[in-house]
Amino acid sequence: MTAVEPVAAEAGRDFIRDIIQADLESGRRKEVITRFPPEPNGYLHIGHAKSICLNFGVAAEFGGRCHLRFDDTNPTKEEQEYIDSIERDVRWMGFDWGPHLYFASGYFEQLYAWAEVLIRAGKAYVDDQSQEEIRATRGTLTEPGIESPFRGRTVEENLDLFRRMRAGEFPNGARVLRARIDMASGNINLRDPVLYRILHAHHPRTGNTWCIYPSYDFAHGQSDAIEHITHSICTLEFEDHRPLYDWFVENLPVPSRPRQYEFARLNITYLVLSKRVLTTLVRDKYVSGWDDPRMPTIAGLRRRGVPAQALRDFAKRIGVAKANSVVDMQMLDFSIREVLNRTAERRMAVLKPLKVVIENYPEGQSEQLEAVNHPDDPGKGTRKLGFSREIYVERDDFQETPVKGFFRLSPGREVRLRWAYFITCKEVVKDASGEVVELRCTYDPATKGGNAPDGRKVKATIHWVSAADSVPAEVRIYNQLFKAIAPTPATFAEDINPQSLEVLTGARLEPSLADVPVEQAVQFERQGYFCPDPDSKPGALVFNRTIGLRDTWAKVAAGG
Ligand code: ATP
Ligand code: MG
Repeated sequence: MTAVEPVAAEAGRDFIRDIIQADLESGRRKEVITRFPPEPNGYLHIGHAKSICLNFGVAAEFGGRCHLRFDDTNPTKEEQEYIDSIERDVRWMGFDWGPHLYFASGYFEQLYAWAEVLIRAGKAYVDDQSQEEIRATRGTLTEPGIESPFRGRTVEENLDLFRRMRAGEFPNGARVLRARIDMASGNINLRDPVLYRILHAHHPRTGNTWCIYPSYDFAHGQSDAIEHITHSICTLEFEDHRPLYDWFVENLPVPSRPRQYEFARLNITYLVLSKRVLTTLVRDKYVSGWDDPRMPTIAGLRRRGVPAQALRDFAKRIGVAKANSVVDMQMLDFSIREVLNRTAERRMAVLKPLKVVIENYPEGQSEQLEAVNHPDDPGKGTRKLGFSREIYVERDDFQETPVKGFFRLSPGREVRLRWAYFITCKEVVKDASGEVVELRCTYDPATKGGNAPDGRKVKATIHWVSAADSVPAEVRIYNQLFKAIAPTPATFAEDINPQSLEVLTGARLEPSLADVPVEQAVQFERQGYFCPDPDSKPGALVFNRTIGLRDTWAKVAAGG
């Protein structure tokens, strides 16, 4: 693997921040108000994390504020569970909207009144055509659309029909309200877009008050205007919608005029960042839920042990650009390792144990050895490790007939036990099938702490746990959910990695690991970063692998 370089030359400077700075300096804007506007139809993913960092980040940097607004205009797909998870995830990311929590559904009455304003001005009409007919007459990029036969209705007729739509007189899909703009516009979004549709559906917040719901396009810009959003930041696919949002703002008595700016959405190799696919993964049980540690959701990353700081650093590193691109997955891994290497305490855990009996260590004797919690941060202190005659080492740290370059345990070979002693392998015990079940070793009492007074060297340091003191645990090793570098939403099922989860049931952990808080990552020396899963209970510990160590294996294995 190669080291990943930050792509944003200077973190914290980008075209959005330049625009805001210029707006403030010129007096065009007196304050900065942004918003993060998720639709509550799923959990947030790491793409949303980028948008959260941008919207909350610029607001904080320029002394403004950022609202959390749910764009809840589609009651058939939206749920309270999603609203709750989104609030939890934004908070966990480290951001706070204060009292500025809003819902597009809170503006339904105002939006309805504005629809009537358009009708009275002859700028909206009720169309009796079906959805299919409307789609079929929209035209293409090269051909204009066809005007609806209902486009010429009088204001009175339109008002009457629209009010009856609201009153519930018509079934789903019977009619829609459309803006009356230009069926020949070069921008398809301006070809009489739908403003309201009939939907007899219960809404999580407004209940059965409404049976007509505004389209996303009709609700979005006006919600920004109601909240006095100054900089309405969204992803590039909404660039072509901007003329429509501007048309609404020009034709309605809105209290403020937001400006929209578009940035590139985040794509990452090996990941799918589409709520539609993520919903399918959950619904069809490819994963255990939205917070499955293999999911690219904020909840999944958190459960895997990824700290919020790593996501914020990642967002800073990738920067904000105007052109779409795909970020290398290793850049995310780099951000995670970088934070955890600094912050995670070191512990020892044996994932696939092999018993070692130290024959010259007296039976019934034990002692406490001191171990450092972080090699670069003395402030994190030390801890005691119980040591006695029986310990476990990693099965992979022993080879009966060592291959070339293997310097760890093998018959006759001396190695260092981390924080403890030098031991030498004397004998190999096998079961009836020939499998190695135990090693008989001796230790050198003069090497306490891991150094020989005579200056002799060993070529490897291995980790271990005490047989008596260690605690059992299940360890879940997560690998990439997708084996394809660019999984496509259409065929994602074939791109799934069948080995994305490996469960180790017999791991042994040093006892202090029983007290680590859920989702807080620690480093298992030489193995990677791991954290307790929410499923973990006293006596039935469960750890998730957050991420493996990179090139440090060679260094430590060679005696570091
Ligand atoms: P999806 O396509 O996954 O369903 P979405 O855009 O429909 O995502 P919303 O809930 O509407 O999801 O998104 C809320 C905000 O997050 C929007 O402002 C959107 O632009 C932003 N956002 C969503 N996905 C990404 C992404 N991959 N990168 C950056 N920003 C994103
Ligand atoms: Mg959306």
